Amino acid sequence: MKYRSTLRRSPEVSLREAVIRGSAPDGGLYLPVEMPHLKNDFLERLPSLAFPEIALEVGALFAGEEIPPQVLEKISTGAFNFPVPLVALGERLHILELFHGPTLAFKDFGARYMARLMEYFVQETGHELTVIVATSGDTGSAVAHAFLGVSGIRVVILYPAGRVSSAQEKQLTTLGQNITALEVAGSFDDCQRMAKQALVDPAINEKLTLTSANSINIARLIPQSFYYFAAVAQLGVSKSLPVFSVPSGNFGNLTGGLLAKRIGLGVGQFIAATNANDVVPEFLRSGNLIPRASRHTLSNAMDVGNPSNFARIVDLYDNDLQAIRKDIWGCSFSDEETLRVMHDVKERHGYVLDPHTAVGVLGWKSFAKQNQNATQGIVLATAHPAKFAEVVSRATGLHPEMPERLAAFLDRPKKSIPFSNQFSELQEFLLR
Ligand SMILES: *Cc1c(COP(=O)(O)O)cnc(C)c1O
Repeated sequence: MKYRSTLRRSPEVSLREAVIRGSAPDGGLYLPVEMPHLKNDFLERLPSLAFPEIALEVGALFAGEEIPPQVLEKISTGAFNFPVPLVALGERLHILELFHGPTLAFKDFGARYMARLMEYFVQETGHELTVIVATSGDTGSAVAHAFLGVSGIRVVILYPAGRVSSAQEKQLTTLGQNITALEVAGSFDDCQRMAKQALVDPAINEKLTLTSANSINIARLIPQSFYYFAAVAQLGVSKSLPVFSVPSGNFGNLTGGLLAKRIGLGVGQFIAATNANDVVPEFLRSGNLIPRASRHTLSNAMDVGNPSNFARIVDLYDNDLQAIRKDIWGCSFSDEETLRVMHDVKERHGYVLDPHTAVGVLGWKSFAKQNQNATQGIVLATAHPAKFAEVVSRATGLHPEMPERLAAFLDRPKKSIPFSNQFSELQEFLLR
């Protein structure tokens, strides 16, 4: 399986090289040179497949000959050892709960798959690897947990001081071992800029094999296509194609859905639902992407002003705005609307949403109002409500019960290194 850069100014590479590099030398992002396609009978068999089986078959398409089937099977069963239930809320709306992994957010899917792929590749080559990741909260904890104790790999996490929830911070900073957390005096965009700069810095790359664990890594994107199939497997036969509403920040989650569609899944529409950080809905309206500084909202894991996967989206559609609009419908919502829908859904259905999933529900509601023939809405639930307990209790008056695996972290001491938002400090740290 060959991968190419979205900028097309770098050589084509193997999956291994795409995963280890993170992004292409020309600054582009990797995509398959030729999109694979599912076997004809896959969709017929889909309802009878368990999640790891879906992961194995879909993952094999993207791996090609590079990974022996028994290795890929071990990766799939090891990474996805938790349930992925589809919950009905009323007749037209379903919630796909992607928060049953160890860090209670959908990023466990990408991080756990990527960690196992990288472990396999590193064992093959024997080179030590440094994984660098910028996080607005959930990526860092998912990555840290996925890589904890993996030999031959060191993880460096950059997160914005004071902009992640206390539970998120504990999950990032209490692990130790091969995981180091840098607490950056700045925004998520600062963290992302520093990480990106490190990845292309000649001095650092001379000394270390550095790679990215952000949603730009193709190893995170591939597994984010698996659960779109799992949703359809559970939905059963329906008259209309499913509409996926995806609460979005860097658009890795939604791009995973675009891959699923490209390799053969029938999808009616994707809804790109954002908070006030609405550069993509704005692009869908105007045709211009105008990045800007991120704004702080209640759904903080989506506070992204320059979405990193945007380059992949336009590439997948050959820059054809009309074609993009045909598949992706954009909308954005305020914190007030988010709190209100959390309250209303709790009252009407007895179901508690976290603020990110709430943005997805708002997206579906808004779309469904204008499209009465859309009968199968699937909102991707990206985080467990207990992860955002303060917002949940503000919206609903309820204190969501904290799952054991989250509670375990809250008593541990925070171990992070205070950092400025200057790249030179990161460079010095990595070269030390
Ligand atoms: C990361 C994250 C998102 C946004 O996902 P993208 O792939 O960056 O669009 C949404 N919700 C939660 C809870 C997240 O952690």
